[in-house]
Amino acid sequence: MRSLLEIKNIFSPSQIIDWKKASPVHPKNRGIPVPTLKIKEGGCNECKVCETECPTHSVKILSNDSIRFDYGACLQCGSCVTACGKDYIKNSGFLYVFSKDRDSLRITYTNGEFTPEPEPADTAEVAAFRKLTRTNGFLYREVAAAGNNSVECELNASFNSVFDSEREGVRIVASPKHADAVVFSGPVSKGMEGPLSDAWEVMAGPKALIACGTEAVSGGLYPKGKRPKEPDLFIGGDPPRPDVVLQAFRYLMGRFSFSFQEALHKYMQSEK
Ligand code: SF4
Ligand code: SF4
Repeated sequence: MRSLLEIKNIFSPSQIIDWKKASPVHPKNRGIPVPTLKIKEGGCNECKVCETECPTHSVKILSNDSIRFDYGACLQCGSCVTACGKDYIKNSGFLYVFSKDRDSLRITYTNGEFTPEPEPADTAEVAAFRKLTRTNGFLYREVAAAGNNSVECELNASFNSVFDSEREGVRIVASPKHADAVVFSGPVSKGMEGPLSDAWEVMAGPKALIACGTEAVSGGLYPKGKRPKEPDLFIGGDPPRPDVVLQAFRYLMGRFSFSFQEALHKYMQSEK
């Protein structure tokens, strides 16, 4: 029986993710909230219920036609959409919430639109890391810095046969001394500030610090603890899906040309 199944598998189509066909938008997922064009009609009465219901204060109503989101703090929980209930905000299914620049994850919309800003140039550290890893991938040490382990579940899944992190040459190592990057999750509690800093300090350069998940990016529901330095890559989502994490790694390595604001802008235009 087992032999028969193995033969069947040989002729089955591959389930492995095809990065050329991968999309930032997954309509079956909630993704980040975005304003709808209905807000243009001036119906928003600035009641601010969406703001009040947001557990991380990542939505701000600036006027009846202007709204700001901090997608680095957004849990993609959909509460603001439910709270509004008037279709001025919707769940977009947009999941590629990552950037080398924290500010790029903050967007102010006016009349349901925004103008994308170019991403800042790479720092010398990121350029050196990219040169080192573009062809061969990288090894990382994961540090769970007081999160809820959901990011770790997704990182585990990134090694399964669908996402296959090792195909990208991206692997986990036990000792930070052998790593090229530290990937940390969680808001970084007081007790985890030291271990995270130690993991970072013992690594040889060029190296990268990667904030994985909304809590690592902004603290999320908790106060944000001290990081050894400003992270080189911010990946939003609570937790981010394995394909989002791997695309973000590919972007950092220079294998995937991407700009969060450009991609979101393209999505918004396609929804008109
Ligand atoms: S955290 Fe939840 S309520 Fe706040 S902006 Fe994001 S989806 Fe909306
Ligand atoms: S978007 Fe909706 S919930 Fe938010 S202030 Fe406007 S009407 Fe109120």
